[in-house]
Amino acid sequence: MPLLNGTELDLLPTMGVGSYASPGWLTAMRRALRAGTAGPADLEEAILDAVRVAVCDQEDAGLDILSDGEIRRQRFLWNVVEKLSGLSVVPAQRKLGVMSYDSAPRFETVERVGAPEGFGLVQEYTDVRKLTRKPIKVCCPGPLTIVMPITPKGGYDGDYLPLLYDLAELVNRELKQVVAAGATFIQIDEPPAVGRTPVLPVEETGALFNKAVEGLEAKIALHICFGNNQGRPAMKRTYRPLFPGILEAKAEQIALEFSNREMSEVELWSEFGGERELAAGVIDVKSMYLETPEDVAERIRTVLQHVDPDKLYLTCDCGFSASSRGLARAKLHALVAGARIVRQELQGG
Ligand SMILES: [Zn+2]
Repeated sequence: MPLLNGTELDLLPTMGVGSYASPGWLTAMRRALRAGTAGPADLEEAILDAVRVAVCDQEDAGLDILSDGEIRRQRFLWNVVEKLSGLSVVPAQRKLGVMSYDSAPRFETVERVGAPEGFGLVQEYTDVRKLTRKPIKVCCPGPLTIVMPITPKGGYDGDYLPLLYDLAELVNRELKQVVAAGATFIQIDEPPAVGRTPVLPVEETGALFNKAVEGLEAKIALHICFGNNQGRPAMKRTYRPLFPGILEAKAEQIALEFSNREMSEVELWSEFGGERELAAGVIDVKSMYLETPEDVAERIRTVLQHVDPDKLYLTCDCGFSASSRGLARAKLHALVAGARIVRQELQGG
C-alpha cells in the first residue's frame, strides 16, 4: 500500500495538483477591493470562506489528500513574487485583447532579492489544517517558476544562476517554516528546464531543486508543469529531454501531465521510474470535456502498464486555477470514481 509519512493510504490515492477553481464571488470581492467598495477585512473573510468551499468540494468528491486550493494566490505566482523585496515593476506591455502570459507585469531586480515576511505559505497551511482531518499537501512554486517574470539586473549583473540560488534559498526557508508548522507533504512546482529562459542544463535544475528542499523532513514531490495560464501551456510539451538528468532531484514523487497529451510518454516510467512514486495526471484540466469515470479508469490502466500500483498516485494534469468551479468539481468526482473502478479490479472485487 502507498505510504504517507508512515501512514498506509488506500491503493491509488487521489489528490489535486494544487490549485482549485476560485468561486466567482471571490473574484467579485477582489474587484470590489480594487474599486474601493470593499475593504481588506471583507476580502479576508471571503478568502477564508473560499478555502472552506475548496476543502468541502475536495472532501465531497472523496479525494484522499487535500490542499487549500491555493485560494490566496492570484495567477498562481503573483502572491509569491509580490512578497519579494529587491524588485522594481515593469508594467505589462500588453493589456488589451486575449489575456496571456504577456499580460502580467514583469519585474527587474534592483538588488539581491529577499522575502522579509516570507511567502505566506504557513498561513495557507494553518488555514486548511483547521478544516480537515485528511492528509494535506502544500504546494510551492520552485525557483525556476518564480524567476519566470523576473529579469536579473541590479545585484546580479544580468546573471540568472545566482538569482535562482537566492530564490531556492528563500523557498527552502519558507518550506522549513511550513514543515515546522506541521506540514508533512510538500510539492514543488517547476517548468521543464529545456527550451526556455534561463537555459540551464537539466542536472543544474536538479541541484537547484535539491537546494530548495535541503533539510526538509517531509515527503517531497516535484510537479513538472507545462504552464496553465488561461488554460494554456507555455512550453514544448515533452518530458523526454529531462530524463535521466531530472532524476538528480531528491523528490520521492514526480507529478506529470499525461491526459492532455493522450498519455504520451507514460512509457518513460518503465525506463526511468525505478523506486520513485509517480503522481499521474489522469484528468485533463485544460479541456472542457468532462471525463467519464471509465475514461479515467482507462487512463489509469494505461499508466499501470508502466508503474507498480503501490507507487502510483492519481492526480490531475495541473491545477484548476483556469477552470470554472462546476467543471472542476465534476472532474474531481470523475477522478475518484475512475480510481474506484481500477482499485476494485486490482483487489479482485
Ligand atoms: Zn501544472
